[in-house]
Amino acid sequence: MTMQENANRPVAIIGYGTAGVNAAIALRNSGYDGAITVFSDHEGLPYSPILTSYYAGGEKEFEECFPWTAEELDDLSVSVLGEAVVELDPDAHAIRTSAGEYAYAKCVIATGANPTTVGFPAVQGDSSYEPLVLRSIEDAERLKAVLESPACKRFLVSGASMVALKTLEAALNRGKECTLVGMNPHVLDFNALPEVAARFEKGLREKGVALRLGQTIQAVERADGKLAVTFSNGESEAFDEIAVSHGMKSNLAFVKPGSLNIDRGLVVDEFMRTSNPDVYAAGDVAQATELISGDKRIVGIWKNAALQGACAGAAIATEMRGAMPDSAGALKGSISTNTIAVNGTLFISAGTMELTDNRRVEIRETEDMTLAVIYEQSETQGERIVGFNLACDHDEPGGEAYDIGAMLTLRIEKSL
Ligand SMILES: Cc1cc2nc3c(=O)[nH]c(=O)nc-3n(C[C@H](O)[C@H](O)[C@H](O)COP(=O)(O)OP(=O)(O)OC[C@H]3O[C@@H](n4cnc5c(N)ncnc54)[C@H](O)[C@@H]3O)c2cc1C
Repeated sequence: MTMQENANRPVAIIGYGTAGVNAAIALRNSGYDGAITVFSDHEGLPYSPILTSYYAGGEKEFEECFPWTAEELDDLSVSVLGEAVVELDPDAHAIRTSAGEYAYAKCVIATGANPTTVGFPAVQGDSSYEPLVLRSIEDAERLKAVLESPACKRFLVSGASMVALKTLEAALNRGKECTLVGMNPHVLDFNALPEVAARFEKGLREKGVALRLGQTIQAVERADGKLAVTFSNGESEAFDEIAVSHGMKSNLAFVKPGSLNIDRGLVVDEFMRTSNPDVYAAGDVAQATELISGDKRIVGIWKNAALQGACAGAAIATEMRGAMPDSAGALKGSISTNTIAVNGTLFISAGTMELTDNRRVEIRETEDMTLAVIYEQSETQGERIVGFNLACDHDEPGGEAYDIGAMLTLRIEKSL
């Protein structure tokens, strides 16, 4: 597209979460003063999915789920259309919603991800039953209503990821009798080594959580108002409600088939450019460089989404001036980091948990903590830390576990 054509069309941002908001902020901070059109599939201010479990669990108020004020967003002078995008046609530079078609000069896809319930069986005797999930404010409202209801006493969480554990914590905070079922032998799928996960599980059991690990839900039947669940080991139990956290899937159904390079997400370069020069992607839809493996992966964390959105916005502002973004604005990549506390049992991790031939693990057990550090022997740098995870029996802000986590995360980042 020529500069003249570009100047007559807005920059479009699809999705108004942290990646989308940070793209808009960076466009403005980088001097772009042209039109920005944001497409959002929900009314209201952008929310943080991170805070939804705290809202449902009664630890945060509704107003606290929104990281940006209306005034801060107004200052960006963007035009926000409350219309879900149903098609993006990159070759035609066209975005379609149920209300019409819109042309753009450059576009940022920042539509995040949605929970999947794959593997959860249809409920016999109640075909309309949908398990609880957690991502959006609407999901949080539904979970909150269930958790506030005295009729819900026995609560089942299926899945053992971070989101599953946050859902579990919300239910524990509301005084529910909780069971967690996970297909793997340990909780914290792919984030923890077995020794660390086992310590975390000990903490959960001490808080009264029943763990069914190495099992799945095989069948569910509505009987006498309850949900009678049969597990894969043949045992059955009745619950009042079920929450399912079986992973997230990037929201990309609206991208015209074959128009962009999509693997698990949109494959992007160090400026968040997709395979089409006028389409960028950021956040939980973007498959960018993960620094330890060197592979393109989705690293679905808040900080990453914010940095990627900012990188895309700055690069687009440069291109709209007719220049090319240079290495100073490139985002080298990211690493995965996680922190979660469930009723006082703390878990922190960063980097990789993948054990290869040139890696070794050191496990340290103390009275209140299990720490696993993963070292890699590299030909150029000797031995370096590429990952760690720890579980601590208490969650003390600013305490030793947080200090160790911060120090090891820094060491990983410095070695990259
Ligand atoms: C329960 C939970 C807890 C979490 N806890 C943590 C944590 O502790 N730390 C951490 O770092 N990360 C955490 N995360 C992950 C973090 O929330 C995400 O990585 C981050 O929000 C991704 O930002 P995003 O902008 O890519 O996506 P989102 O914040 O999901 O924003 C995408 C937006 O696009 C909209 N959209 C989707 N499709 C369309 C469409 N077709 N048209 C228009 N709009 C559309 C969506 O409705 C949404 O508003 C958590 C996630 C969940 C669900």
